Amino acid sequence: MVTTVEAASHAARFLEQPKRMLVDGAWVDSRHGRTLEVYDPALGEVIDHVPAGDAEDVDLAVAAARRAFEDSEWSRMTASDRGRIIWRVGDLILKHADELAEIESMDNGKPVSVARAADVPLAADLFHYMAGFATKIHGQTFPISVPYAPGAQFHAYTLKEPVGVVGQIVPWNFPLLMAAWKLGPALATGCTVVLKPAEQTPLSALRLAELMLEAGLPNGVLNVITGFGETAGAALAGHPGVDKVAFTGSTEVGKLIVKAAANDLKRVTIELGGKSPNVVFADADLETAIPGAANAIFFNHGQCCAAGSRLYIEQNVYDEVLAGVSDYAEKIKLGRGLDPDTEMGPLVSVEQLERVTGFLEAGEREGVRTVTGGKQVGEHGYFVAPTVLDGAGPGNRVFDEEIFGPVVTAIPFSDTAEVAAAANETIYGLAAGIWTTDLTKAHRLIPQLKAGTVWVNTYNIFDAALPFGGYKQSGWGREMGEEVIHEYTETKSVCIGL
Ligand code: ADP
Repeated sequence: MVTTVEAASHAARFLEQPKRMLVDGAWVDSRHGRTLEVYDPALGEVIDHVPAGDAEDVDLAVAAARRAFEDSEWSRMTASDRGRIIWRVGDLILKHADELAEIESMDNGKPVSVARAADVPLAADLFHYMAGFATKIHGQTFPISVPYAPGAQFHAYTLKEPVGVVGQIVPWNFPLLMAAWKLGPALATGCTVVLKPAEQTPLSALRLAELMLEAGLPNGVLNVITGFGETAGAALAGHPGVDKVAFTGSTEVGKLIVKAAANDLKRVTIELGGKSPNVVFADADLETAIPGAANAIFFNHGQCCAAGSRLYIEQNVYDEVLAGVSDYAEKIKLGRGLDPDTEMGPLVSVEQLERVTGFLEAGEREGVRTVTGGKQVGEHGYFVAPTVLDGAGPGNRVFDEEIFGPVVTAIPFSDTAEVAAAANETIYGLAAGIWTTDLTKAHRLIPQLKAGTVWVNTYNIFDAALPFGGYKQSGWGREMGEEVIHEYTETKSVCIGL
């Protein structure tokens, strides 16, 4: 229940009602009756409670998802009808866009204007895009030769079948959008799901689940268990009744997911951390490259796995770009997400605040220069000033590790070969940026970068049609696009002797 803050206008009804989990089409408390607190990160105050589900609740949800997968209205539904339900989910998200944006803003801290312009329409678009795939998932036929069976004839083809019951564990940085990225392909392929939102931001997933029932999703196809990662999340990742785990979050937890899933060799897709290089060449259009580089790191308060947190600037424009990005950082208006003037909200939690300020203190101890920012702002909430660091390099924690906050380290470079090597000097490989007006230079650099996404003269562009995921320790598999459909299907080869 909302206690300390006024419920935002569109979201009032949802925020005032008690929160329950969705299991087999019913709204339920956790079996043990435990709850967890939901904070408004701008105020540092508890605004709601949700059930703290654990292993017993996960058992019930997995059993419901299994029933729905094996023998139900859903398992017998035509692909066309499935697609229509998924399309309606997209429509309902758009219909309730203001409400969802407010819920996201209160829960996560992000500006409501950003949630309304980016998170919510992207989530709707993902469902609309995936709705079309429901009727377009098919195998192939093969003219096989079989050298050891001369003269024999065969009819050989493949079927694409849904992988089964999927456990989906999503993070707090884009709570609604990350749920959409995972749910869309699972439903398009005919899987059933147990979704666990992050304990910091469980609200929009619960509202989305209401909308999905309204769209006509049969009972048990989507189950939502709210709870902590170490309990509910771990139980889901290791559950013998789950065929696949799809996870987005930190690389550290991604490794735990892989270990948990290894027991029975579940299918696993993981989208993990990053320390993405963003390279500004001297020939770039600096009028777009400077705000572009600032947005690459400061969008969503730096709480983006793809954030351009290592800013490589060609030597002869280093001072100019460093000053430009710092100037941009100083002008960003910090405030509560629900305030329409806010450009950057607080970090999501006190743990995140301590983590980010801990990095900043480590940088200071190691002699890294703070050009601007570098500290917590205000006495309430979890605000950190947009920060630009100079002089960090390998061996400095701020350079080597993912901070997941509004902190960029700038590094000078003098030629393409040098920056290509430096850009890849990381355990991660999620994204990279290039700013140049020289297309030859860009095209030569793109294949050298070990990253799942390369943006040129732009950054943070995501689309339902464009696969997203990581090289190296940034993950396994891809989200979105046609590629994700393969992550939710098994291929069955059929060979018929004629
Ligand atoms: P962050 O470190 O950025 O908070 P996490 O990777 O810890 O991100 O969290 C992402 C998601 O993973 C959340 O839903 C969280 O509850 C879940 N999670 C955390 N620890 C585990 C775990 N041991 N097993 C399964 N899920 C977990």
